[in-house]
Amino acid sequence: MNRDQPIVPIRTGNANAYLVVTGSHALLIDSGPRNQERKILTALHGLHLPPESLRLIIATHTHYDHCGSLRALQNMTQAKVLVHQAEAGDLQRGDGGLPDGTLWFSKFMVAVGRRLIRSLATYPPVTPDIVIWDTFALSDFGIDGYVLPTPGHTAGSLSVIIQNTHALVGDTLFHIVKNSVFPPFANDQPELFNSWQKLLDTGCKYFYPGHGSPISRELFQTYFLKKRGKAA
Ligand SMILES: [Zn+2]
Ligand SMILES: [Zn+2]
Repeated sequence: MNRDQPIVPIRTGNANAYLVVTGSHALLIDSGPRNQERKILTALHGLHLPPESLRLIIATHTHYDHCGSLRALQNMTQAKVLVHQAEAGDLQRGDGGLPDGTLWFSKFMVAVGRRLIRSLATYPPVTPDIVIWDTFALSDFGIDGYVLPTPGHTAGSLSVIIQNTHALVGDTLFHIVKNSVFPPFANDQPELFNSWQKLLDTGCKYFYPGHGSPISRELFQTYFLKKRGKAA
């Protein structure tokens, strides 16, 4: 990936957060699990941007590994927080629950997790500033891009499309296993595949998942065709 691209990944615990930087404007996608706020502000500082340059934080969905540091960042910056309507209540409770497993090992993990570690899924509650239910333009925040609802992993999952080239997709895609982009957790698989089609239809070249490394359009397309072939 080329160096002057606007997407800056930040490894936050086992998840990725991303800064999108254009000129003096920054946008944060997700905030990792708890206690990641310093790491994110350090990354901003490393780009020679003051905390005030961060005007918006988008929660791709409300699982604990994406919203754990959101409250702290809301307190430490002037950023507004954006979430989908379907998950605004979860964010306000600080509990996005645990998703359904899609593979044997993740089904097992979720079954154990739901019984034993209920508190794992919780985090400091956040009152969102912007609640959306449809596409949302980011031009008011100085960013050339828009938010696109991509349900499936969760009902309120969002992706962020930058310059019609870069898609930040939360847990709609995973890339923790080589040559696979399938999330081990999803509440609604048919809906997930509809959202994959929507993402390909954006024409984006690069896809940045909540877990694992960036995904090329070629890999995404090939994987999707294979998966669809099997389902038919
Ligand atoms: Zn998730
Ligand atoms: Zn996740």
